[in-house]
Amino acid sequence: MWERASNISTSVVLMPCDRPPYISPIRAAMIPHSSSRDSGIDFAFDVANRTVVTLANKGLGMQDIQLIIDRIYDAMVPRLGEGKVADYIPELAKVDPKQFGIAVTTVEGETFVAGNAEVPFSIQSISKVFMLTLALGKAGETVWNRVGREPSGSSFNSIVQLEHEAGIPRNPFVNAGAIVVSDIVMAGHQPREAIGELLRFVQYVADDDSIIIDNAVAKSENATGYRNYALANFMRSFGNLHHPVENVLGVYFHQCALAMTCHQLSRAGLFLANQGRNPLSGHTVVSARRAKRINALMLTCGHYDGSGDFAYSVGLPGKSGVGGGILAIAPGKASIAVWSPGLNKVGNSALGSAALEMLANQTGWSVFGA
Ligand code: GLN
Repeated sequence: MWERASNISTSVVLMPCDRPPYISPIRAAMIPHSSSRDSGIDFAFDVANRTVVTLANKGLGMQDIQLIIDRIYDAMVPRLGEGKVADYIPELAKVDPKQFGIAVTTVEGETFVAGNAEVPFSIQSISKVFMLTLALGKAGETVWNRVGREPSGSSFNSIVQLEHEAGIPRNPFVNAGAIVVSDIVMAGHQPREAIGELLRFVQYVADDDSIIIDNAVAKSENATGYRNYALANFMRSFGNLHHPVENVLGVYFHQCALAMTCHQLSRAGLFLANQGRNPLSGHTVVSARRAKRINALMLTCGHYDGSGDFAYSVGLPGKSGVGGGILAIAPGKASIAVWSPGLNKVGNSALGSAALEMLANQTGWSVFGA
């Protein structure tokens, strides 16, 4: 099991925090006559003095990765606002859709960012990856007695399969599955303890104590979460929820309301790209085998009924959320977070998916080969 971080490293902060959208130093260096003084950009590191990253990244250098994400940002700017912001959670409907951020953290610990990478957003279903990791740490393989490992082919909040399958959800990433996973993590705890445990875990894997839960989002979802109440009541009727429905959903809505930036999220996913160990903090979060299996579930189930299409066009394990974020893992290479609030028809970020397709094509990082 994971243990609490004793010293929080802040060594890989490469960007000015409150001045989105971020323009990279490499990009700024290409702008004629720009300097840290006249462009208003803080040059957070000296490009010329940095060594090229690594064998693991197949000869892709630091400048290559930064140029690739700068190019992606350029391609996304004319498309800002595409898709539809999730409005069934009133607090999410207030978010400005014309935003796009991307952060790539490599297994060598370098972070590259472009766009609104320092703006916190609601990670929503991406939290299901972290809650599943916690549940597996607590209950091991017994998790799979209560939730399956198959793609659903249905929308994230669908109820249709549950009756046929006796209240056992298809996988831990559809809402019903994630609600069961929250119930598993709650065993022996008050709801607020389970929420605290998840928050500390996410802070630990991201190596960042400043991550918070946005209570306004949790409250907003609780006030309108009729469908999740229906799913939870249905599963409780089959005996697959062990705690009162309001308590389990209280935990579930708070986990979904975690607010993180692309930068923080890319660091939080790093253990999955590096065989279970966060190379920045040196902490082993899970075994290499478990990391591999969580990645497998993300690849097959992480985008609901868009999972096949995401595997086809991006080819990376990924998990989306209706806040417009996507966490994608390039095993052995990098953890990538993208965010843009407008969603496609199946509830995944429209620009985020397009950006990751570009990234996979240009880096050759697809798990299926270049
Ligand atoms: N909190 C959201 C819900 O339960 C999560 C859905 C998602 O991000 N796909 O509806």
